Amino acid sequence: MQTGKRDQGQASAQLVDQYSRTISYLRLSITDRCNLRCLYCMPQQGINASSLVKCADLLSYEEMLRIVGIAVGMGMNKLRLTGGEPLVRNGIMDFIHSLAGIKGLEDIRLTTNGVLLHEKAAELYSAGIRNLNISLDSMQPERFKAITGADLFDQVWQGIQTACDLGFNVKLNMVAMKGINDDEFADFARLATQRPMQVRFIEFMPIGNKESWDRSRFISAGELKEIFSTLGTLEPVAGSRMEGPARVYQLTTADGKSGRIGFISPISHHFCDQCNRLRLTSEGRLRACLLHNHETDLKALVRQGGTDSDIQAAIQQTILNKPKGHTLQDDLAGNDQVNCQGQMSRIGG
Ligand code: SAM
Ligand code: SF4
Repeated sequence: MQTGKRDQGQASAQLVDQYSRTISYLRLSITDRCNLRCLYCMPQQGINASSLVKCADLLSYEEMLRIVGIAVGMGMNKLRLTGGEPLVRNGIMDFIHSLAGIKGLEDIRLTTNGVLLHEKAAELYSAGIRNLNISLDSMQPERFKAITGADLFDQVWQGIQTACDLGFNVKLNMVAMKGINDDEFADFARLATQRPMQVRFIEFMPIGNKESWDRSRFISAGELKEIFSTLGTLEPVAGSRMEGPARVYQLTTADGKSGRIGFISPISHHFCDQCNRLRLTSEGRLRACLLHNHETDLKALVRQGGTDSDIQAAIQQTILNKPKGHTLQDDLAGNDQVNCQGQMSRIGG
């Protein structure tokens, strides 16, 4: 298995796509399973077993370790574990410990719904994770239940507190939806000034559970910014675009408190020109763009006896074929359909 980092010249040449973007960040969907049923992501009546990836078709941890090791050997240095809900897969902690041993993998992050965070946060911290993205769309227990299908707000909130107390760098992600949680936008923004966490607002996308999407529920980052400018001053944080898709602002409220809020705006202001990521789906398909359906079947390659060089070549080809950008905004200008197949939980949001 190739796990060592190559020399930087070689690494960067392999990772540069045809639009001169260096692809250094892998998002790994550990499982398509989840303990919540968020209305925008999964059908709330539950998922019928036939639409879940069969257990035998999920990548095993050994297969994931091999693929990640090869990608890191090519120079990729940042990994995000997502899903589905990554913390529901058995053996996740041992897996993270093994990932932490991959030389050259500098940063392992996790995105979670927080349901299992209180019980697992300390172990995640000891395994070396320092950055957590936690999804939360309401601070009202009844509404939380309506959005996620589970009466677990208190448990998630406790998980968030535990993570902050342990010293994780926490980013709270809220999907902003008109008519669903819009009366809490200001409370979420203020939260960033009251707790040690960045609060980010994600534009509601017509992917995942597309039936739940409706143009009237969409609110753009620009509109949100206008709302928040009534709370105090908003100053752009220099250099934040280098760290990810969010545009980050320092919010200082009238009472002098200050905190960071971010906007993730895949629809109104896409960030494709700076996209540095690949996604590996829960069944081992490598995807260069969330919103383009082309996937490279790495699992087939691995299970058919592909060598490390074969896998490396497939990764490199996927990088070369990475599309310039997505067309979500144009797609939506014509109708409410988007050319993105596949569940968010399988692909890894
Ligand atoms: N289960 C974990 C969680 O919820 O944090 C990780 C996976 S989830 C698919 C990753 C992120 O995608 C979450 O922050 C979720 O809110 C976001 N997401 C899912 N469907 C979305 C949609 N239709 N529009 C915007 N964001 C969405
Ligand atoms: Fe589960 Fe995350 Fe999808 Fe919600 S957004 S249903 S928590 S995978």
